[in-house]
Amino acid sequence: MNTEKKDIASLDIDELSAFLPTLSEETGVKFEKFRAKQIFSWLMKGISDFSEMSNISARQREALSEKCYIALPKIHKKFVSKLDGTVKYLFELYDGERIESVFMRYKHGNTICISTQAGCRMGCSFCASTLAGLSRHLTPSEMLGQILAAQNDTGERISNIVMMGIGEPLDNFDNSIKFLKLVNNPDGINIGYRHISLSTCGVVPGIYKLAEENLPITLSVSLHAPTQEYRQSIMPVARKWDIDELLKACRDYIGVTGRRISFEYAMIDGVNDSAECATTLARLLSGMLCHVNLIPLNDVKERDYKRSGTKTIETFVKILEKHGITATVRRRLGSDINASCGQLRRDDSKEE
Ligand code: SAH
Repeated sequence: MNTEKKDIASLDIDELSAFLPTLSEETGVKFEKFRAKQIFSWLMKGISDFSEMSNISARQREALSEKCYIALPKIHKKFVSKLDGTVKYLFELYDGERIESVFMRYKHGNTICISTQAGCRMGCSFCASTLAGLSRHLTPSEMLGQILAAQNDTGERISNIVMMGIGEPLDNFDNSIKFLKLVNNPDGINIGYRHISLSTCGVVPGIYKLAEENLPITLSVSLHAPTQEYRQSIMPVARKWDIDELLKACRDYIGVTGRRISFEYAMIDGVNDSAECATTLARLLSGMLCHVNLIPLNDVKERDYKRSGTKTIETFVKILEKHGITATVRRRLGSDINASCGQLRRDDSKEE
């Protein structure tokens, strides 16, 4: 793939309208004004080749394919859960990078968990996605393409998105925002911001910048520990921005957007799951417009950590609730296909 070509599916209608006249100049092929909307609508249908644009003239399609490319991820491997129909994809990008997405069926609609980077440089000690570091950022069209490719493959519409796959969205800020705007575009796949969650490990400047965007998405913050000492022992990002700075940014975010924050907390046996941790966490979050999402740890082969026991998790929830903090335990979908992110990309790269 010649990357000097334009990544056309990352452009919105206004950008396409501005780009087509320059394409006309370069190729000598005229593009009428109304073409921008037509082309955008094709790209948002998840086509992989310009030849599929049946209402665009042959000469125009040729000019497009000479100067642009469509970065739709290809399915490299796919696993379907026999238990609940969850589908896990290992996608291949134009340069051979591989990323994961998970398609899940919930009562409230189909949800996809997408990756925002190929790899990750945040270094959380319990996470498989970061073991081999960061290869590169994903473009807006590569984030969007995961949704389009999964819709094409399942034949079902996706109505909810969680940016909780491989990568740190706030470490790829501009592309993540661009993606959110593309996916929300009424002429495209039109998914409402309220149906989208973005998860961060705690990139504090990114949280302030996101608040400025003031999009009604749900912000999830991976807290995973109730004190600075515990947190920095499992999350290197906490050494850069400590827990007090993080919570200050969260309070600011809630103040600006009026939106509740969802704190993620992976339950790791003997590390962060004691009754004392629960009490400290409840005090830390007291009075905040928030919710706690407890995630029983998914085993990572390379790490020693184990998931907390069911009783320990129940006790943890009760303590939080006694202090007025609402908490839920995340249901595990696709447990027979290891449908958590990071492991598949890693196993696959080791095989080859
Ligand atoms: N970088 C972002 C989003 C990707 S990770 C973030 O850190 O929030 C999505 C969620 O899965 C995060 O809460 C992350 O901490 C959590 N996670 C990572 N590895 C996990 C594991 N082995 N078990 C359970 N949750 C894990």
